[in-house]
Amino acid sequence: DTQQPTSLLKLLDDIRILMESEAVLRGVNLHFYLTDETILCDQTKIKQVIINLVRNALEATARGGSVTVSIRISQAERTVVIQVADTGCGIADETLPHIFTPFYTTKKGGTGLGLPVCKQIIEEHGGTIQASSKEGEGSTFTIHLPLPHTKG
Ligand code: ADP
Ligand code: MG
Repeated sequence: DTQQPTSLLKLLDDIRILMESEAVLRGVNLHFYLTDETILCDQTKIKQVIINLVRNALEATARGGSVTVSIRISQAERTVVIQVADTGCGIADETLPHIFTPFYTTKKGGTGLGLPVCKQIIEEHGGTIQASSKEGEGSTFTIHLPLPHTKG
């Protein structure tokens, strides 16, 4: 098993370093609102998920817009909630049901594999991923991952 106790703060810090230059080049503001939490996960795979979401968000967002990555805890659901939100082009109502389908893409040269891979990885971790969007206003991707059981 490759799942290890992982500090989300550390994991997101690595992602921030990786994605900041890409955001600067695009003129998009990249914000992080983080609280530290330890989860059990395959770090490489969860990093890949968040990088995919941030990259999609940056690609959808015009200069001057913003992309926000946030982490919060839902004590009620015993999950950690990771959100990637953008103020980009949004997703049309008729497109939204298809975005997690392998090879579905609206981009010239897109693979359409980013989101299906994200979904597969999150489900391997016992979590869920959902998209909500309003065309012309932006999109939010929300991941729920189970928190480790507390001892005692
Ligand atoms: P790709 O990025 O190669 O197109 P993905 O699986 O990552 O493949 O995304 C599939 C499709 O979902 C994209 O082509 C785009 O239409 C839509 N999409 C994903 N993320 C966003 C976003 N943040 N804003 C707008 N559209 C998005
Ligand atoms: Mg993509």
